[in-house]
Amino acid sequence: MMRYNFQQNETGAFGLISRYTQDKVFNQISHILSRIPGRITPKALKRILRIAEGLDRDREYSHEIEGLRRAIEGDHPYLRFFDLIGKKSLPCREKLFRNFFINAVFNGNKIREDFYRRHRISRPFFFVISPTMNCNLRCLGCYAGNYPRKENLSREVIDRILEDARAMGIYFVTVSGGEPFCRKDILDLFRTHHDIYFQVFTNGTLIDSDLASEISRLGNIAPVISCEGFEEETDHRRGKGTFRRICEAMDNLREAGVIFGFSTVPAAYNYSTLLNEAYYEFLVEKGALFGWLFQYIPIGARPEPKLMLTANQRLTLYDKVRAVRNAYPLFIADFWNDGPYVDGCLAAGRTGRGYFHVNCDGDVEPCVFVHFAVDNIHRIYERGGHLWDALDSEFFRTIRAGQPWNSNHHMPCMVIDNPHCLRNAVEATHPYPTHEGAETLISDPALSSHLDRYSEALACLWTERDVSACHMETVPPEPSTWMKACTETTNSIS
Ligand code: SF4
Repeated sequence: MMRYNFQQNETGAFGLISRYTQDKVFNQISHILSRIPGRITPKALKRILRIAEGLDRDREYSHEIEGLRRAIEGDHPYLRFFDLIGKKSLPCREKLFRNFFINAVFNGNKIREDFYRRHRISRPFFFVISPTMNCNLRCLGCYAGNYPRKENLSREVIDRILEDARAMGIYFVTVSGGEPFCRKDILDLFRTHHDIYFQVFTNGTLIDSDLASEISRLGNIAPVISCEGFEEETDHRRGKGTFRRICEAMDNLREAGVIFGFSTVPAAYNYSTLLNEAYYEFLVEKGALFGWLFQYIPIGARPEPKLMLTANQRLTLYDKVRAVRNAYPLFIADFWNDGPYVDGCLAAGRTGRGYFHVNCDGDVEPCVFVHFAVDNIHRIYERGGHLWDALDSEFFRTIRAGQPWNSNHHMPCMVIDNPHCLRNAVEATHPYPTHEGAETLISDPALSSHLDRYSEALACLWTERDVSACHMETVPPEPSTWMKACTETTNSIS
């Protein structure tokens, strides 16, 4: 068996699982995943399952492990995901395993528990940081478009934030913006914090073959490329020529062996494309392994309620996403509709799967869609505090105390599904709006009544369904034509 050596990690996080054990586990998994071309056998997958069970001594991730077991038993199409991971570059595979699964998931969980015992503050799994709002595009309805574009977090402050994150047990960080690759020091940041796994939301237009190769060499970055459908929808929202450029970016990343995903904003203008399986086939063939759907929500200085999906459309898309998951090796996270997987709203650094957002100006927001804050990281550091102090504000505590906002986790959101809850939290704790016009969400009566009507309509539709029927789709239907063709091709290679 080929053996790999790891760099020493100076943070001490690995003390929880010995280096010897980690190397042994990684070598086993890497050996399994490197058996390409060809499909990974159910026997090999069961070995991965046993390894995961061994690491999850506290059964914190038993639900996820059980989902994987059922998937193996049902020969679910998304198991092909493991074949695809095996084709990625060694640093990308190594960092996915070491940074994400070991540091963020398993060891991170223990650090988070220790952190809680010491500080008695909520312990989220991750956070989003927007190091810059500069961007080379001007997209229609961009939630970030109202922040001042010249604001940047200094490198010194970002380093300090990431140090605090480690102390909190957070080793999974999402980078948003703005366009992160507009920052000249962004690769150096990822290089310096090589024990953290970064998911980077990007418009993709700056990812040429050189940048893709460097991302592949570093391994701890999973780019998520914004794509609104095919050429017509993408260029409509993001500007002419953007679709062609992101196709090139995906080709560059695939050829460099990078693990990457896509992000799509379902809205009125691309709804019909998102119901068409050709879109998901395109993404899989481009090499995306996972993706996010963030439905358009009317926030910012110029909210456009007419761009939102209707309640009916949201449920139709809900069904479509579940069908796609059963047919393609593509992990799609349907941000609002997937509330049941994470027990509802994640905002304000909720313990468990929760998160928060540090924006480019240093304001600490409950989530990327809630543009209110009471704390700013610069003020916190000026008084000698830490990142986690922001989790203990009355604003954040009020939000966490109200979660989940209702018993139907398919309607988790305090912005669009339970708008009165956000209004109440703002009224009770008086946060400041983090950019001009952010308060519109609360203060504009027409917008408030639109969201009230929307959420009532959605609640009515859900009462007609069995809301408790929310679980992983692990029993596959007949494989799609695409899946059959793929399997035949892979078998013929092996
Ligand atoms: S407020 Fe809405 S968007 Fe933000 S974490 Fe909660 S459910 Fe998600």
